[in-house]
Amino acid sequence: MIRINDIIDKITEYHPDADLDIIDRAYIYSARVHDGQVRLSGEPYLSHPLEVAGILADMKLDVVSVAAGLLHDVVEDTHASIEEINEMFGKDVSHIVSGVTKLSVLPFSSGSQARQAESIRKMILAMADDIRVILIKLADRLHNMRTLKFHSPKKKVKIARETLDIYAPIAGRLGIYWMKEELEDTSFMYLQPEEYSKIENYVRKDKEEGEQYIETVKSIIKKKMDERNLNCEVLGRYKYFYSIYKKMISQNLEFEEVYDIIAFRIILDTIPQCYEALGLIHSLWKPVAKKFKDYIGVPKPNMYQSLHTTVIGPFGER
Ligand code: MN
Repeated sequence: MIRINDIIDKITEYHPDADLDIIDRAYIYSARVHDGQVRLSGEPYLSHPLEVAGILADMKLDVVSVAAGLLHDVVEDTHASIEEINEMFGKDVSHIVSGVTKLSVLPFSSGSQARQAESIRKMILAMADDIRVILIKLADRLHNMRTLKFHSPKKKVKIARETLDIYAPIAGRLGIYWMKEELEDTSFMYLQPEEYSKIENYVRKDKEEGEQYIETVKSIIKKKMDERNLNCEVLGRYKYFYSIYKKMISQNLEFEEVYDIIAFRIILDTIPQCYEALGLIHSLWKPVAKKFKDYIGVPKPNMYQSLHTTVIGPFGER
């Protein structure tokens, strides 16, 4: 279980001059009003706001967000009132806690259709006049998904469905892709356990060879970039399970036929360097026709910018 000192250490690292007094006070207050409450996991309830605040600190958010994260459930689940939060922690924190509380009482019908899901997502984004409300709600959902196994089977499916339809797309829209991927993969695990473990087994079987392959390709890329004095970081990893699954379904493939399950990322300093790196990759390995996307020239609606391509790699693989 994360401790308040871990959270304070994280904040101090990215914000050395932060006024940590509000974090201390929010922690003490939250501990007091949640005292005696227990999570389904059997842990003290306080572990949940602490984990949520830890996720927010990992995202390097400001102290107001982290304090509001510690307090995000006090109005809904304890005798605390918004007026009291306002008096003790100020207008910003109380405004955010109030926003998160309003979102948590929204009614969701399970098995909602795509259009309905879109209108719920729009409503959530419109209700939150402060983006920090959404970020706390997402961190809250992420920790609830991490601890979903303690719920009843029916509740697991309902929450996972809602996460996949509503919250994962919001995380994606905000450009928080690591969170979108974790929310999707965890939902996928509860909604389609058989398909999930099938893919998990395939990837595990493939793992040792795969790790070696990733290192080989990374060093080829790095060498090529070094030759042109392109200062860069090269990353390689398996795509996440749900994206592999979606590809299998949309293209009607067996796992063995999904070739591009490993993705590489080259991070450079400037935009011209990105295009230069792309040119180097395309001269090194043959690009697959129509698989190139220029999200720098045409950013995604959330301003995500990068170049995507598929190439035939050193061993004939995509
Ligand atoms: Mn919560």
